[in-house]
Amino acid sequence: MTADELTGRARSHVIDLGALGCVLHRDVVQPFLDLRDAARAADHDLVAVSSFRDFGRQRSIWNGKFRGERPVLDRQGRPLDLRDWPAADRINAILCWSAIPGASRHHWGSDIDVIDRSALASGATVELVPAAYLGDGPHAALNTWLSENMAGFGFFRPYVSERAGVSPEPWHLSYAPISVPALRQMTPAVLLEAWRASDIDGVEWLIDNVDMLHARYVEDIDTVDFDNRR
Ligand SMILES: [Zn+2]
Repeated sequence: MTADELTGRARSHVIDLGALGCVLHRDVVQPFLDLRDAARAADHDLVAVSSFRDFGRQRSIWNGKFRGERPVLDRQGRPLDLRDWPAADRINAILCWSAIPGASRHHWGSDIDVIDRSALASGATVELVPAAYLGDGPHAALNTWLSENMAGFGFFRPYVSERAGVSPEPWHLSYAPISVPALRQMTPAVLLEAWRASDIDGVEWLIDNVDMLHARYVEDIDTVDFDNRR
């Protein structure tokens, strides 16, 4: 992928699946359709509620949270009022649930947030919270099915365990044959180039802390050894 594709500033690597409501890297389309078909055969209606997201979209989420115009939650899901906080504290709070523009795995088109649509009561809003994927939560059966089957289709979960950076996101799946090489290409220099050309709030602090941010929010993920799983 080019630097513009890696940071969501180009769409040349992705395809809009139209009726399925998602936008994926061209090499992820067929694996995703295969995963969806297999899930359906096991009575799960696997839907990607979030897929490719471009830099501009991530910037509007980021700036909205930074300015206090969008809700920001703590790790326990409680709302925070960070309007009077210094930039560094605001950014640390936002980073618990949102990626920095340019640093989201959703820019690659390889990563999706999934739900089991058949488990939602009609009219219910989609809530991406860990409890919904555990115990008797609405997406728990799909979650278990994915744990047993997704590796065979090339997918894994990059955010499973509690880490210094991103909180656990059982709904977030990643297609390894695309995202593993993308992660290797995603250096601090690539991030700096994207940030310097942008108008994201707090960008001076981001630039000053790029190495720490890259280590904590880009590189520090859960990985799967596919050679041993297959
Ligand atoms: Zn996600």
